[in-house]
Amino acid sequence: MSNYFLLFFSLLINLFILFIYFSKKRIDLFENKMYISLALCNTVCLLVETLCNLCASNILSIDKNIIVRLFLILLLLWGCILTIYTNVISTKKEEKYNLILFSYLIVFLILIIPIFFLHIDFLSFDGLYYANGEAINYIVLVASFYILINMILILKNYKEIGKKKLPIIAYIFLMTIAISIHNIDPTISAINALETFVILFMYFTIENPDLKMIEQLNIARDQAEKANHAKTDFLSNMSHEIRTPLNAIIGFSEALMEEDIPPSAKEEVKDIIMASDNLLELVNGILDISKLEANKLEIVNTEYSLSKVLNDLVVLTKARIGEKPLEFRTNFDPSAPAYLYGDYARLKQIVLNLLTNAVKYTKEGYIEFKVSTVKKDDICRLIISVEDTGIGIQNDKIDKLFLKFERLDLDKNITIEGTGLGLAITKKLVELMQGKIVVQSDYGHGSKFTVAIDQRIIASPTKPIDEDKALEIEEVDASGMRILVVDDNKINLKVAERLLKDTKATITCVDSGFACIELLKNNTYDLILMDDMMPKMSGVETLHKLKEDPNFAIPTIAMTANAIEGMKEKYLSEGFEGYLSKPVNRKELNSTVMKYKK
Ligand code: ADP
Repeated sequence: MSNYFLLFFSLLINLFILFIYFSKKRIDLFENKMYISLALCNTVCLLVETLCNLCASNILSIDKNIIVRLFLILLLLWGCILTIYTNVISTKKEEKYNLILFSYLIVFLILIIPIFFLHIDFLSFDGLYYANGEAINYIVLVASFYILINMILILKNYKEIGKKKLPIIAYIFLMTIAISIHNIDPTISAINALETFVILFMYFTIENPDLKMIEQLNIARDQAEKANHAKTDFLSNMSHEIRTPLNAIIGFSEALMEEDIPPSAKEEVKDIIMASDNLLELVNGILDISKLEANKLEIVNTEYSLSKVLNDLVVLTKARIGEKPLEFRTNFDPSAPAYLYGDYARLKQIVLNLLTNAVKYTKEGYIEFKVSTVKKDDICRLIISVEDTGIGIQNDKIDKLFLKFERLDLDKNITIEGTGLGLAITKKLVELMQGKIVVQSDYGHGSKFTVAIDQRIIASPTKPIDEDKALEIEEVDASGMRILVVDDNKINLKVAERLLKDTKATITCVDSGFACIELLKNNTYDLILMDDMMPKMSGVETLHKLKEDPNFAIPTIAMTANAIEGMKEKYLSEGFEGYLSKPVNRKELNSTVMKYKK
């Protein structure tokens, strides 16, 4: 009866393993499929062995011949699956797995043929029933064959298989002992119990399906992050590469505008400036859109003066209207709070996009820029509308308005410069600020864009608000001031020299960080304008080197074509006093110079 106990116990363990395996979330790796086939085969084997025992002791009256042969076939099948498993864990080439499976199954089908013909003796000894004879000897022979293959595979791939080899080694060792004992005393058979032990042992070494899934998710995440980094790197490089020549085009064109040139040439220079501005807008737009799509654009909230923001917008819009026969009406709620807390730079970007479009798409009539407010507790809802008497938008096209690179009515707009990115960015920014944007339009008569954004009201600012004077400075006189410009690009040096000419400052140019350091050994300056991306020694490295001298106190401004989001903060944290992006804005440059004039 001890056999029954062993059988029952083994069956219980097998069922337990099957239950645990199937109740877990898993990815079906090939080797795990082989593992569970082993457990299933062993379970069936144990059930058939129980039937064998019941038949032998005449409790059941089924043909012993059939049931014992079935049991022997299942034993061989188990050996075959285990050998497939060992083969699979020995090779990492997934494409080979199916070939391995089919080859072994064909060998198995050939190997079981003799089982149907070889003779089996049914014997009993001391009340214990057992089978012997040619068929059993044949099974021992084939089992030894499987043990041998497993042994070769393990020895060949000892290192690669890792801890997964341990249960296979246990199988080789225990099965060799079991076969030897069976040869000495055929009444003792614990093969299925040993197989159960091997399966139990294997459970702790097989690829943990959960861990594997997490591992694969991590790999996928890493790959996505790498791709995203590559995209950001590509975009910032592209932006840098395009900005550098644009700096020269815009810089020299603006300088040319001030020269005494024929009116027709002036018109052409104006077109060059407009086209370059448009290209710059496109580069900035692509950077913004890619940041927005990667959820990398952050809202930076600070305290700001609403009237200052509105004033800047008015100045910029008036400049854009220029000579156009357009009336610019403003209508600002006088009860609007003076100070608000929010991302004023983004707010400006949103409204400026709408105002710029109104100017672009309106030939005559007016543009009304209206700001009303609704206050509740410390929240102020800004309701900003931009209304124009321009070409308007067809009702069925309004849905397309906010899609990127979508430009409408091209037959009418063909002469108007645009990228089709402005409104896509505007909408995303409004959503990022938890606001809403709506459009009303009467095609042919005009459009009205309304934005509602909540901002927190500040009773009085905690520190003085940084009033950016850039837009107000008209006259610049920095005579007597010494400015050093460091840039490896000769044309950029010429542009800077030309743009700074009107400041009347003394300009010195050098084309590398080394030259800058060398020059500063014997000279001093009031201001340094430094490019960053220079070969051999970058602007940042140059500044760090200069700062090694505790007496170094010349304000140094980063003037670079690295103009992606967060660059200003990066350069300030590296020790620069300020940051100017290329193409250099003339007014910003002048105001920077004036700020450091002694
Ligand atoms: P663009 O750079 O082409 O101006 P936008 O995304 O800002 O790109 O605008 C998308 C399209 O929406 C424009 O090409 C234009 O057809 C239409 N549009 C935007 N604003 C107005 C407006 N105020 N009046 C008429 N059409 C407009």
